[in-house]
Amino acid sequence: MKSDVVVVGCGPAGSLASLEAARKGVEVLILEEHKAVGEPDHCAGLVSISGLKRLDLRVPEECVLNRVYGARFFSPSGVTFTVRRRTAQAVVLDRRRFDRWLASLAHDAGAHVILGEKVDFFMARPEEAVVAVKGGEEVRGEVVVDAEGCRGRVARLAGLPRPVGRLPAVQFELAGVDGDEDFVELHFGSTFAPGFFAWVIPIENGVRVGLGAYSRPGERLKAFIKRRGLSDCKVIRKITGVIITGGPVKRTYASRIITVGDAAGQVKPTTGGGVVTGGICARVAGRVVAEAILEGKVGKPLRAYERTWRGILGREFFFMGLARKFLNKVSDRGLDVAFSAIREHGGTEVLETYGDMDFESEALKRLLVNPYILLRSILHLIV
Ligand SMILES: Cc1cc2nc3c(=O)[nH]c(=O)nc-3n(C[C@H](O)[C@H](O)[C@H](O)COP(=O)(O)OP(=O)(O)OC[C@H]3O[C@@H](n4cnc5c(N)ncnc54)[C@H](O)[C@@H]3O)c2cc1C
Repeated sequence: MKSDVVVVGCGPAGSLASLEAARKGVEVLILEEHKAVGEPDHCAGLVSISGLKRLDLRVPEECVLNRVYGARFFSPSGVTFTVRRRTAQAVVLDRRRFDRWLASLAHDAGAHVILGEKVDFFMARPEEAVVAVKGGEEVRGEVVVDAEGCRGRVARLAGLPRPVGRLPAVQFELAGVDGDEDFVELHFGSTFAPGFFAWVIPIENGVRVGLGAYSRPGERLKAFIKRRGLSDCKVIRKITGVIITGGPVKRTYASRIITVGDAAGQVKPTTGGGVVTGGICARVAGRVVAEAILEGKVGKPLRAYERTWRGILGREFFFMGLARKFLNKVSDRGLDVAFSAIREHGGTEVLETYGDMDFESEALKRLLVNPYILLRSILHLIV
């Protein structure tokens, strides 16, 4: 088998890179290890409306489970602040349907999708790239786009780094929860979510409640559900996954291969959300690869891809990485103090005015230059 571009993985990043490349007129073949696109899913599905606009996606209503207007933040000992807007800020997606819809866009643009084929070999030759699927069949292409998600196996075969800061995560979908359908909740605390946080995301007649942690996320989630008063609710689904908090890998291209999405660590270190940031990079990937093929320049390094996506998101990842380092170092007491300072010294207004779920640097910088918030947080960093 042969195609101009061979894409490994049919998640959002693989589909968006394929869509862009196919629209430019090159042949695209997507190899997906599972028999159905979008399954098994591993996501809370919270995606900003502004991010979907940036990706130029009009998501069909059947993929949308809810719309939310803001977020409530809870410190370890229960200091809270709420960031709210008048219009809906994010949608809660049915990721299985969303992934299938994205794959159908790529398919309609001309990409060929083959399901049930797991790539387990990669090699770059001077004149072509070769991958092999389980069972040994070889597929050749001008370029491989590695959109395999967090595992990073194909990237490693190409000598590219794997994403770091990987945390195990668990999420339950609970039915029969009465509550505010307009706000998500983010709960911080080293007893139940060391290294990350717990979330409660409203969906119709229920919630998605989950957390990431350095260890034992399942056990910790059960304890958190009890603490949050949700123990009596019926569990209707459980998912597990890996959240990436270490930011983008150092290098996302090698000879005849590039990595996109989770495979490249293009995930927000603050929240672990990667659909929009990975999607932005995937669109760049599809365009750069298609142009290189059409201009006959694939033999040259695909550096333009890395230069372009870092130009769009490099600063964002830098500031979100700093915020993640702070969150990982600060004590529970320090977080309580920081949350009080945000609440009492204009922090919520900053977040409401400058907050952007994907481009967080502006709001983070403005929080940091507030002397009350900065000084109090630093003083309590290790207390
Ligand atoms: C618990 C949890 C909650 C999350 N919540 C959110 C959220 O609310 N909002 C948000 O934006 N992000 C969230 N994320 C992150 C988000 O899920 C990822 O950033 C996003 O799915 C990355 O898309 P991707 O296309 O890069 O990778 P994936 O979605 O992982 O897709 C990779 C695809 O490649 C396939 N594949 C893997 N290896 C191979 C192979 N060798 N051969 C062929 N196919 C292969 C897989 O089967 C899969 O279909 C969450 C993650 C977790 C774990």
